[in-house]
Amino acid sequence: MARNIDGTEISRVMRAEMAQQVAELQAAGVTPGLSVVLVGNNPASQAYVASKTRACETLGMKGQTLNLPEDVSKEELFAVIDRLNSDATVHGILVQLPLPAHLPYKAVLEHIHPDKDVDGFHPQNAGLAFVGDPRAFIPCTPAGILEMLRRENIPTRGKHVVIVGRSLIVSKPLASLLMAPGPDATVTITHRHTPDLAAFTRQADILIVAVGKQNLITADMVKPGVVVIDVGQNRVPDASSARGFKMVGDVDFDAVSQVAEAITPVPGGVGPMTITMLLANTLQAARARVTRSQPS
Ligand code: NAD
Repeated sequence: MARNIDGTEISRVMRAEMAQQVAELQAAGVTPGLSVVLVGNNPASQAYVASKTRACETLGMKGQTLNLPEDVSKEELFAVIDRLNSDATVHGILVQLPLPAHLPYKAVLEHIHPDKDVDGFHPQNAGLAFVGDPRAFIPCTPAGILEMLRRENIPTRGKHVVIVGRSLIVSKPLASLLMAPGPDATVTITHRHTPDLAAFTRQADILIVAVGKQNLITADMVKPGVVVIDVGQNRVPDASSARGFKMVGDVDFDAVSQVAEAITPVPGGVGPMTITMLLANTLQAARARVTRSQPS
């Protein structure tokens, strides 16, 4: 039976460490601040944003949400971002995705100043991360997965990591991080056009799944002793829940747990780590600002 990798507990430890660092910055007169821009009324986005700003506040950071109407124009949204870019009390800016279709999300993400891009989605940060430059903000989900493996003492050197999904926000940066010197993994990326997915997933020492399809990975698709990281977040109807739904991942958790050595649950695995790394990136942004403002 697989050991559960408890993202909530790892996050609790990390957040306690960070609270100490926030207190030190505050003593030096700086309160790290994160501003989240939320366009429209998507309930899932509202819930994610609320948990992000709440997490900031529990650490002593300043978290604020700017709610903009669904029909906000590109120019109005850019003006809000401009204002946040030049506000010295705001260290991190995040525009919650997905955006309504009339807004060009790539141009919106590029409008955020790279020094405040705590999601790490600006092409400048993506490029810095790709070349292994420590100034980069690493996207929160890949950063959280790496941190989780490190803190759980799961070795990656020489291991075959198979990633299912090729997204820009999770899979591509994760592949680049895992193959870099340090983690030293051998990485295979698979996606919707990969023929015979199971032929690849069965080779994995560590299997990371970021697709968004319930039960995509079944027990016959993994080898015994595999470590499974389930990034997927799927809402499925659940009459027994007050919300009327529950969250499940992309992996058939009960069956795969019989075969794997370790596995992340959904919820309580990758999700909390993503928010924790957002706090870490905001702290990094605030520290970098303090360093830049000191006379050389
Ligand atoms: P995405 O939605 O941009 O893309 C999905 C990927 O899955 C694509 O690359 C596609 O090629 C691949 N795919 C689709 N069907 C496939 C199949 N049958 N076989 C193999 N590959 C297939 O990806 P994303 O934004 O990385 O999100 C993926 C999932 O992870 C979603 O459920 C999302 O909600 C979740 N997610 C969770 C967190 C977290 O913090 N836990 C963070 C980000 C994303």
